[in-house]
Amino acid sequence: MLDLPRGGWSGGQSDATPASKYDIRYGENLLKEESSVWPPYFVVTSPSSLESTRHALSSPPIGFKFINTLDWTQLETLSSSVPNGTKLIVAIGGGIVLDAAKYVALKTSIPLILVPTIVSTGAIIHSVFAKWKGFSTVGTVEDWPWLDAHHVVIDYSVIRKAPSHLNTAGLGDILCSQAGISEWEYSSKRNLSPPVDPSKTLSVRNQRNEIVGFFPNTLGANGNLTSKSIKFIMESIQKRDSNSIQSPYAPGSDHVFWQCVESTNNRGWVHGGGVALASVIIAWHCEEGVEQLISDLDTCQVFWRPTQLGISENHLLLALKSAPQFFNDKNNGRELKSILRDSPIIGSRFKKLWSFLNS
Ligand SMILES: [Zn+2]
Repeated sequence: MLDLPRGGWSGGQSDATPASKYDIRYGENLLKEESSVWPPYFVVTSPSSLESTRHALSSPPIGFKFINTLDWTQLETLSSSVPNGTKLIVAIGGGIVLDAAKYVALKTSIPLILVPTIVSTGAIIHSVFAKWKGFSTVGTVEDWPWLDAHHVVIDYSVIRKAPSHLNTAGLGDILCSQAGISEWEYSSKRNLSPPVDPSKTLSVRNQRNEIVGFFPNTLGANGNLTSKSIKFIMESIQKRDSNSIQSPYAPGSDHVFWQCVESTNNRGWVHGGGVALASVIIAWHCEEGVEQLISDLDTCQVFWRPTQLGISENHLLLALKSAPQFFNDKNNGRELKSILRDSPIIGSRFKKLWSFLNS
């Protein structure tokens, strides 16, 4: 019998289990072994994720549902479809599936096990999940719910089946922290902020150097991801939170801008690739560190170019035009000083950006 899950409809910032304490279990064909001891369980998943794991489940679930949105109206319907007698919720999939399952587990007070099919996102080690309306988040982190998963199952044989750029996207979600440093360098050179404090950016720089230095050594002979690569990406994501820059001069504008892209276009893209692209745009606009960032992303095989992500010129322009307003929306927890707000990329500057991104 698993304990009832810890969670709440708010207050996760202080109460949820931190990423560094998450119980992550690794192994080859681990899902088979783990699922052999599961009580009657319900699966939240996507068609491709179920397909890639079905053979590895020791016994079939008592029910499953596909999910492709985090819209709360749909999560409510999903929660009410959990059959009586369910003793465990299992999330099998990417970030959207994992966050949707947290909602279901919180709503039903049934324990949750996460089985990521890609190591692409912080959703694997974050209990807090956003409130969504369509492709826009509503409210602030303090208003968002949280649910501690019982543990996480990383089955190498499952994750290796996914296209590798979906896994390396996890490194994009870490390397994107360059945006904060670029913003700080930019504002300090214009006397809009104190000089960059190297002690505050040291841990981010160290983690980036470690990733860029070590990740290529984990690859197989053909440059393919191995179990070692997958474990390295997952552990890097887990370590990231303790390395973030704590300074108002280094805003998380990469993530906020990416939210802006998805919200204004009302659709989603691969998160880690998207925030990496956002970071490149900010570093380019600040003229601080963009070459190094691109070299690091390419070394780590992160797909960040618009063509790789399926981002059109119009998708980007629409978001860049909306950015000043989007970054100044107190009701939804956004009041960031950012170059994208103070000096928007529009007109001829946008044309330059677009040709840079496609060069
Ligand atoms: Zn992220």
